[in-house]
Amino acid sequence: MIGGNRNEGDVAVIGGGVVGSALALGLARAGGRVIVLDEGDIAFRASRGNFALVWVQSKGLGMPEYALWTRRSAQDWHELAVLLRDEADIDVAHSQPGGFTPCLSEPELDKRIGAMRRLHNQPGLSDFPYEVLDHAETRRRLPEIGEDVVGALYSPLDGHVNSLRLFRALREAGARRGVDYRPNHDVEAIAPGDGGFRIRGSWGEIAAGKLVLAAGLGNARLAPMVGLEAPVKPSKGQIIVTEKTAPFLHNPMVTIRQTDEGGVMIGDSQEDRGFDTIVGQPVLSVMAERAVRTFPRLAGLNVVRSWSALRVMSPDGFPIYEQSQSHPGAFVATCHSGVTLAANHVLTLAPAILAGELPEALASFSARRFHVPANA
Ligand SMILES: Cc1cc2nc3c(=O)[nH]c(=O)nc-3n(C[C@H](O)[C@H](O)[C@H](O)COP(=O)(O)OP(=O)(O)OC[C@H]3O[C@@H](n4cnc5c(N)ncnc54)[C@H](O)[C@@H]3O)c2cc1C
Repeated sequence: MIGGNRNEGDVAVIGGGVVGSALALGLARAGGRVIVLDEGDIAFRASRGNFALVWVQSKGLGMPEYALWTRRSAQDWHELAVLLRDEADIDVAHSQPGGFTPCLSEPELDKRIGAMRRLHNQPGLSDFPYEVLDHAETRRRLPEIGEDVVGALYSPLDGHVNSLRLFRALREAGARRGVDYRPNHDVEAIAPGDGGFRIRGSWGEIAAGKLVLAAGLGNARLAPMVGLEAPVKPSKGQIIVTEKTAPFLHNPMVTIRQTDEGGVMIGDSQEDRGFDTIVGQPVLSVMAERAVRTFPRLAGLNVVRSWSALRVMSPDGFPIYEQSQSHPGAFVATCHSGVTLAANHVLTLAPAILAGELPEALASFSARRFHVPANA
């Protein structure tokens, strides 16, 4: 047994994906002694397969607090990028040039506009700038756009990063702050006890004063052990990456972006297929066909790889942040946009967890919302 009865760390973070790594860094920066317990290499890891958007437009229809939380993270992302450069010596290639959602038919554009209007009609969301562009204006801003693009939505709030470098930078900055990252530490059981939690697996046992469940899809099983719930399910996303090419696309789009290294990422499907991660030709060909209609020059590029990964999706698609009422000191943090929300997780959420109380702005993110009848 490691640690005996002594608390080995102030906080044990379970899960070392982008959410757990961001929280671990933020906890350490706030002065906590942090241990991260992470599964082995064969685990499902949404953080290694994402599309790398720091995306605001279209987020929060049905929960205005989520739109505000997302915008705050996008605003604070500049601070996070500087922090990671200073503390990890890694440039995560963050930029916020504004993002486009190109549409390939009038009904598609109308649907997007309708959703955007409904989103901004919610309380407190009048200050979310966006524009509706017709084909000519879209082409003026993006000269290589195809004839099939009837128009686009544009928001200056959107950006993107190099997400693998982000992941590495969070880990590196955390390590320099003393975060004790332990791979191959699959947590099987958690027992709340006096003044903390005992956390067990085949590797042994540790004790910690506080606990953060950041285990992605694993949170569904772990949360009930400490009086929490996280009814998350997988949502499969497939991504295509092309060979590197000269820069032609500065702005991110919801399904196409050129990385800082030159490759073009084409994404990302949303499929309800359980824990299946097989890459499938039919879905990839639909994604590729839409991408080529959006930017005809993509037809001339070779595909160098494709993959699929599982998003961590709650029943309504919004994050779950909560402290256990029955076992205070145990927190759950899960979301499907861990890149976008990384700034909030490092700079806002982690210090609040260490202080023992979540900010009032996060009250709506409790999983108790799933027990309210839809017509209540
Ligand atoms: C296709 C796709 C596209 C995406 N695009 C974007 C995007 O453009 N922008 C954006 O912001 N986000 C995007 N995301 C989401 C982003 O990648 C985040 O990673 C996601 O929010 C979940 O991160 P996570 O750390 O919670 O989960 P994960 O990355 O799954 O990490 C969870 C970790 O917990 C570990 N774990 C699980 N159970 C246990 C256990 N019992 N004991 C110990 N460890 C355990 C796992 O091994 C894993 O390392 C995308 C995701 C996908 C799949």
